[in-house]
Amino acid sequence: MTNEELQIFKKQLEGMKESINADVERTLDTLTSQSGNIPDPNDRASMESDLSFELRIRERERRLGEKIDEALARISDGSYGVCTGCGQDISIQRLQARPVTELCIECKTKQEQREKEQGR
Ligand SMILES: [Zn+2]
Repeated sequence: MTNEELQIFKKQLEGMKESINADVERTLDTLTSQSGNIPDPNDRASMESDLSFELRIRERERRLGEKIDEALARISDGSYGVCTGCGQDISIQRLQARPVTELCIECKTKQEQREKEQGR
């Protein structure tokens, strides 16, 4: 991969990270403003399911954030774009579609098959 390509992925990853951080702040605001007294039990139930929905999304974003950090670390140490499964280069097209990936399409497919066989 050329240095220019690396810089493009770096910018893309940093942009993804910024938008996650903005989302997390927004959720914290929502949580704070909703923590007042809500007398109606129905309101309370729907608020709590909204909250758990929000928290599930946040959990996913937190994990994505970790993957972004790992990808940025791989850019710094020069191992970005190399499959951690087989050591081959990951295709640029795959990285463009999913810049945080650390597996080439063959290894990813094998991993998904294994997970399916384990009943997950
Ligand atoms: Zn691979």
